[in-house]
Amino acid sequence: MKVPLLDLQVQLSYLENDLIAAVTRVIKSTRYIQGPEVENLEREIAEYSGAAHGIGVTSGTDALLVCLMALGIGPGDKVLTSPYSFFATMGGILRLGAIPIFADIDPVSFNIDPAKISEILAADKKREIKAIIPVHLYGQCADMAAIMKLAEQYGLPVIEDAAQAIGAEYPMLKDGKIEYKKAGSMGIAGCFSFFPSKNLGGIGDGGMVIAQEKSFAEKLILLRNHGAQPKYYHKLVGGNFRLDPLQAAALRVKLPYLESWHRQRADNAASYNRLFADTGLVADKKVQLPVSVFADGQDVIKGGRNVHIYNQYVLRLKKRNALIQWLTRNDIGCEIYYPVPLHKQECLGQLATKTHCPEAEKAANETLALPIYPGLTSSMQLYVVEKIVQFYR
Ligand SMILES: *Cc1c(COP(=O)(O)O)cnc(C)c1O
Repeated sequence: MKVPLLDLQVQLSYLENDLIAAVTRVIKSTRYIQGPEVENLEREIAEYSGAAHGIGVTSGTDALLVCLMALGIGPGDKVLTSPYSFFATMGGILRLGAIPIFADIDPVSFNIDPAKISEILAADKKREIKAIIPVHLYGQCADMAAIMKLAEQYGLPVIEDAAQAIGAEYPMLKDGKIEYKKAGSMGIAGCFSFFPSKNLGGIGDGGMVIAQEKSFAEKLILLRNHGAQPKYYHKLVGGNFRLDPLQAAALRVKLPYLESWHRQRADNAASYNRLFADTGLVADKKVQLPVSVFADGQDVIKGGRNVHIYNQYVLRLKKRNALIQWLTRNDIGCEIYYPVPLHKQECLGQLATKTHCPEAEKAANETLALPIYPGLTSSMQLYVVEKIVQFYR
């Protein structure tokens, strides 16, 4: 049996006609820049995520960059983030001449550890850190209550890298009651990616920023179009960060399916968890399952759930590298997210040697993502688990 890491043909089988109709609609409209498809998607995503504003941009990478530009981050500034993420999380910081500072991750959730953030901010006597970028890795929110509390204490803006987590929910405590907040709606801005492998993926690159404050949203709108207002009168130095209407039209076809895709992914994760638990591999500590927890080890926080959208189903495993070879030989797709933590990337030069994040380094050596996409069948999942059992035997 062949089990790919991701198979977009499954959704294409029922979306193809609608996607072609949407793309045709854009072509026939001759509105190829901005226009109604982009505006409608912006409104729909903002509404879906509980945000006041949606600003379509070229990619998740540019969503992060344009947010940092809007905050005025520049040379010499420091930005605090997670060392365990896709490169784009720190790419924007570096491109602006700023310096990424890394707070190590919590080994259970793989998300940035608020206790580490607290230590670093307390040591930043000169107040060089200008913003915090938590990442909601694999589709599960970082501990935003703790992060927002620290951000408030130090007067720092928070930009959520929600590229993998559109629709994930976090149980924020408000007046003693739980209020579920969607990923991206808690900080000053939230960044989404529509890269095809994300839960909501386009037919190419795309991204969006969501924001609550009108003034911040207006700045983002200026910056994504060369800072021009009106046309040819440049208030700020921005760039061309505009979302393609072809992508917006395709994404609007997919958005109504998003919740059902999240559910299928969560169901697949629950099936894997059950199957793995039955094998004894978990009890033997060969395999550590993903769980909705924070550093305190509680599955239920404040009586609420940290609702995971499972963009990736990631295990921590013994003999990971040998297992990858075995799975590949058996036609099972898998991937390491990510093999080199950000603070160890070559492009950092001097900075890379100075920083230590032992948990991120350990995770990079021990984690592996398995197929979890909607449409993955139960016999495929059974096959994956059987092969992993065979490997450890
Ligand atoms: C995918 C991703 C990005 C970048 O998104 P693109 O649309 O590919 O530019 C940024 N951060 C994280 C965590 C991602 O997974």
